[in-house]
Amino acid sequence: MKSETDKFPGSAAECLERYWGYSAFRPSQEEIINSVLAGRDTLAILPTGGGKSVCFQVPALMNEGICIVVSPLIALMKDQVLNLRARRIKALAVYSGMTRGDIDITLDNAAYGDYKFLYVSPERLKTSLFKARLQKMKVSLLVVDEAHCISQWGYDFRPDYLEIAEIRKDLPASVPCVALTATATPEVAKDIMEKLAFRGENLIRAGFERPNLSYIIRQAEDKVGQLLKVCSGTEGSGIVYVGKRKLAEDLAAFLRSQAVGAEAYHAGMTAAARSLIQDRWKSGETRIIVSTNAFGMGIDKSDVRFVCHYDMPDSLEAWFQEAGRAGRDGKTAYAVLIWNPHDIKRLKQITKVTFPPLDYIRDIYQKVFQYYDIPYEGGAGESHKFDVESFAKKYRLHTATAYYAVKYIEQSGYWSLSDEVDIPSKLSITVSRDSLYKVQVDDPDADSLLKIVMRMYPGIFSGYLSIDEERIARVGHFAVDVVKERLQGLARRQIIGYIPRFTATLISFSGERLTEDNLRLPQSEYDERLARREKRLDAMIDLAQDGSSCRVERILRYFGQEETHPCGCCDVCRAKKVR
Ligand code: ADP
Ligand code: MG
Repeated sequence: MKSETDKFPGSAAECLERYWGYSAFRPSQEEIINSVLAGRDTLAILPTGGGKSVCFQVPALMNEGICIVVSPLIALMKDQVLNLRARRIKALAVYSGMTRGDIDITLDNAAYGDYKFLYVSPERLKTSLFKARLQKMKVSLLVVDEAHCISQWGYDFRPDYLEIAEIRKDLPASVPCVALTATATPEVAKDIMEKLAFRGENLIRAGFERPNLSYIIRQAEDKVGQLLKVCSGTEGSGIVYVGKRKLAEDLAAFLRSQAVGAEAYHAGMTAAARSLIQDRWKSGETRIIVSTNAFGMGIDKSDVRFVCHYDMPDSLEAWFQEAGRAGRDGKTAYAVLIWNPHDIKRLKQITKVTFPPLDYIRDIYQKVFQYYDIPYEGGAGESHKFDVESFAKKYRLHTATAYYAVKYIEQSGYWSLSDEVDIPSKLSITVSRDSLYKVQVDDPDADSLLKIVMRMYPGIFSGYLSIDEERIARVGHFAVDVVKERLQGLARRQIIGYIPRFTATLISFSGERLTEDNLRLPQSEYDERLARREKRLDAMIDLAQDGSSCRVERILRYFGQEETHPCGCCDVCRAKKVR
C-alpha cells in the first residue's frame, strides 16, 4: 500500500469501527455497502439521520482512488469535509465562491494527491477546468447526495444535477454511481435511476418507520395555546417551525414570557448570531428553537424530543424531513403539526406568489443580468453575490415575487443560487516583484507580513487565493487585527488586492445572457410545474384533513412503501385505542 489512505485493508465493519468507532452497521447500511462494493449502481433511500454518509464513505475507503461526491448545499459539503478530516481522512471540496486559483490547486490535489474524497457542488461540474482534471483522477465512486434534486418530479429540482449524467460518460464504465436521498416517491426514484443512467435498476429502500416517533396532527383555532401545550407538556429539546421570520421572533418571545426557554433563528440574522443560537440549543442551554426552515439541515442532535410545525408545510416531503429531526436517539419523541383552515388559504396564496406570470419572470431574467452590468452574450460561468432585497429595491419590485421569479429561472437551468456561504478573504499581489521588493525595503512592517504571506501562499502572484488571516497571524506571531489592518493598508496603496471575508448567497450563471427572443421559458412547462406543486400541496392538506386512518401508513404509502401497518402511536391510532 502506497499510503494509509490508499485503500483500507480490512472488512467494511472493521473500517466503520476504525474510522467512526461504531460497532455495527444498521441493517440497510450493510445492504447498500455490499451492493456498492459489488460495483453496482445503487439508489439508497434512507430517512434523514439514517446514516447515508457512511454508505458511500466506507466503500470509498475500501477502494483505491478518489470518491467524487455531488452535494447541493455548500454548508453541508464543508461540514462533511471537516468531519472526514477530523477522522484523518483526506477530503477536498470545490464550489462557487472559491477563486479560480483555489479551484485549480484543489483539483490538482484531487488528481495528484492521495485524497479519498472530492466534494463538488453541481454548478461546477460542467466547467472545463473540472472536466479536464477529472480525466486525470482515479475515481473510485461517483456519489450523488440528495439525489432527488435530479428529478423534475421531486420537490427540489436542480437542473445542474442533470450534468452528472454527462460526467458519467467521461468516467470508466467500472465506476459505480451511488445515489442517496431521504425523500423519493416511487415516481421520483425511477426518474433518479434513469437520469443517472443506471446500469440496471437497483433500489434499496430502508423502512421509513420511526417507531419511537409519534405523529400528531392538531387542528386548532388557537394555535398559540396549542403550541404552549406542546412546549410545556414535553420535556427536552425541541424545534418549532414557522413560515415567517417575524413570527419566529414573536413566538420565541411569547414562549419566554410563559417561562419556556426559547430562542428564534432565521436567515435574517447574522451568521455569527445564528451560530451562537445554534450552539446554545445544541448544548441544551436553550431548550427550544423557533425557526424558519433555514434551521436544521445537517444538524446532528440526537435527543430532540419534539418538532412542532406551527405553520403547515407545503409538502409531505418537507414535513417528513423536518419532523424526522426528532428522536434520532430512538427514544420517544413527537412530530406535531398544528393547523387550521387559514393555513390552507395561506399555502394556496403562496403557491400563487411562487408562480408569478411568465412575462414577469422573463423580465426578471433580463433585470438580473442588468443588475450586474452584463451585456447580451456575457456572463457565462460567472458567480456574483446575490442579495434579493437590494435587487428588488433597485428595480422597485416586490421582494418575494422577484425572489420566486429568480427561483423559477433557476429551475429552468439558466443560473443557480447557492445556499448562504461564508466566503473567505481573498488576496493577490498585483504589483511586479520588482516594485514589491521596493516596498519591502522601505517598509519593514509590510515586509514581515508579506514574507509570511508569500511563503504560505506561493500562488499569490498569479491571481486571487483564499487566505486565512488567523492562520497568518498565528504563523507570524501577529495579532489578527494587525494582519487585517496591514493588508488593508497595502490594498489602499494598490500593492495587493484584498477582499475581506463575507457571507452571501451567490448566483452562478450557467450560460451567457440570452436576448428576449432566445430565452426559452415555455408556457407548457410552467403549467406542468404549477400542477406538480399543487399536487404536492394537496397531499399535505389531505393528510391533515383526513383523520380516518393511521398517519404513518398514509405517509409511508405516499413514499411508496407498500407494506404498512398502523403505527399505534399517531393521533389517529391513539384516538382509536381510547375509544
Ligand atoms: P443522513 O445523511 O442519512 O441524514 P448521516 O449520514 O448524517 O445521516 O448520519 C447521521 C448520524 O448517524 C451521524 O452522526 C452518523 O455518524 C451516525 N451513524 C451513521 N451510521 C451509524 C452506525 N452504524 N452506528 C451508529 N451511528 C451511526
Ligand atoms: Mg446526509
